[in-house]
Amino acid sequence: MPGPAASVSLGRLCAGADGPPVWYDTAQNALLAVDPVLGAALPLFGRDNDAELMARLAGELPGADVRRALAEIRRARADEGLFALAGPPAALADLDALVRDAQTKLSHLVLGLSERCNLRCLYCPQDHEAGNVMSEATARQAWAFFASHSVGASRRTVSFHGGEPLLHFPVVEAVARTARAAPGGRQVRLCLDTNATLLDEAKVRVIAELGLELQVSLDGPAHLHDRWRRDARGGPTHASVMAGLRRLLAVDPGAARRLRFVATVGPPFAFAEVAAWFDDFPLYRELGIGITPVVRLNTANLAGTRAAQRCEPRALPLLWLAGRNEARGQYAAAMAAGRRRDLPRALADLWDDGLVRWHHRRRGPEPGPGFPTGSCRPGLRRLFVAPDGTLRPCERVGPGQAIGDLDQGIDPSALRRLHEDLLAALGDRCRTCWARRLCRACFTALVATGGAAESCRAAQAQAADLLDLQVSLQQHHPDALAFVAGSRLE
Ligand code: SF4
Ligand code: SF4
Repeated sequence: MPGPAASVSLGRLCAGADGPPVWYDTAQNALLAVDPVLGAALPLFGRDNDAELMARLAGELPGADVRRALAEIRRARADEGLFALAGPPAALADLDALVRDAQTKLSHLVLGLSERCNLRCLYCPQDHEAGNVMSEATARQAWAFFASHSVGASRRTVSFHGGEPLLHFPVVEAVARTARAAPGGRQVRLCLDTNATLLDEAKVRVIAELGLELQVSLDGPAHLHDRWRRDARGGPTHASVMAGLRRLLAVDPGAARRLRFVATVGPPFAFAEVAAWFDDFPLYRELGIGITPVVRLNTANLAGTRAAQRCEPRALPLLWLAGRNEARGQYAAAMAAGRRRDLPRALADLWDDGLVRWHHRRRGPEPGPGFPTGSCRPGLRRLFVAPDGTLRPCERVGPGQAIGDLDQGIDPSALRRLHEDLLAALGDRCRTCWARRLCRACFTALVATGGAAESCRAAQAQAADLLDLQVSLQQHHPDALAFVAGSRLE
């Protein structure tokens, strides 16, 4: 009899299965219907030695059945590569290849023009007064760097970030004109990440002429938006956002096709209400624009912000869960009734995306040592340029994680250090994590002090939610999953 193993079979018994239990098997990245004895034994297998495992199940199941299940688990492990106790170790990415790719395959340049903003949203982590502002010369240099390092990219995007980039519109315009005039520049996506309150007639004409896309922060109807999104005097901002959008659409009605929205959903976490409001977007209705806006719903991160001081911290997770469950209930009910198309688009996206990713997942055994699936790889494709010209892997990381500057380019040793930091933050935990092949944890959250445990919990909860939904639909409403067959991964 084998002694106690260090770990348990990697996988998870899925909830929501009314028929035979369903086991998510990490080693094969597959869902397996198993008989009830296997379903009881698998979550314990490996943690307990056989005698202990049998003792734990003794009151529930006949010993002969459990012995048969243990033999079956061992056979399936040896013959079919199922029920492994650990995955391959996390390993440094191929940094040489990463550095090589960064010479030609950057596809997304994010220009951090400054942290300054005309608003004072209560959940905003940025310091709106201090900090550098990117000069026009630096912004042009950043574009030139990107242009020469993206010749092998199939699509190219330049995003203008702040703070509020409309405070620095001459810089935006200078880069946008230069990009448009460059070879292939008509195809470059130029995106402004804006609160839209500063859209005046002069700016919207330039935006129309250069075909800029806008990603507008708008948190839903006024009573939800104005709770957290305030101006410098603490006043509401919803009306200013709508006025800015009205000015844009009056000059450039076609801009509706280049507009996307990001709704940061804070307490009371009314995801369903926000999604429904956008689906019948009052401004488009008023202007006779017959399209449904594209909206991403994010959860507000209140940690350390002024918004947190106005909330009862212990109530927040419960409030979030209630709001999320309300939206998930609507999603599940619509899927069950074959009415997915009637769902507000932003609400459907919250779960559709996971089901699509599941459909396109890599099946079968893992190829070998590497990074867990979800954590993005610093230095790959995306490049953030800070106002002083230093380079970072993305806009979420701070100055301590710079990977070079515009004069010297990407510094391979800094890139290596970042990857080493990620490995150190993760330790050996990914090897024995059941969610390793579904993980969407973010690099920045993982390396933040104390961040790994918290973001791993969130990534595992997200993976569990996806699997439970997939299993429940598979068993009860398989037709509802037909939409994934024609889908593509973004
Ligand atoms: S608009 Fe954006 S940058 Fe400005 S205060 Fe609000 S969240 Fe912060
Ligand atoms: S959830 Fe955490 S431990 Fe699990 S694979 Fe993702 S990063 Fe690794």
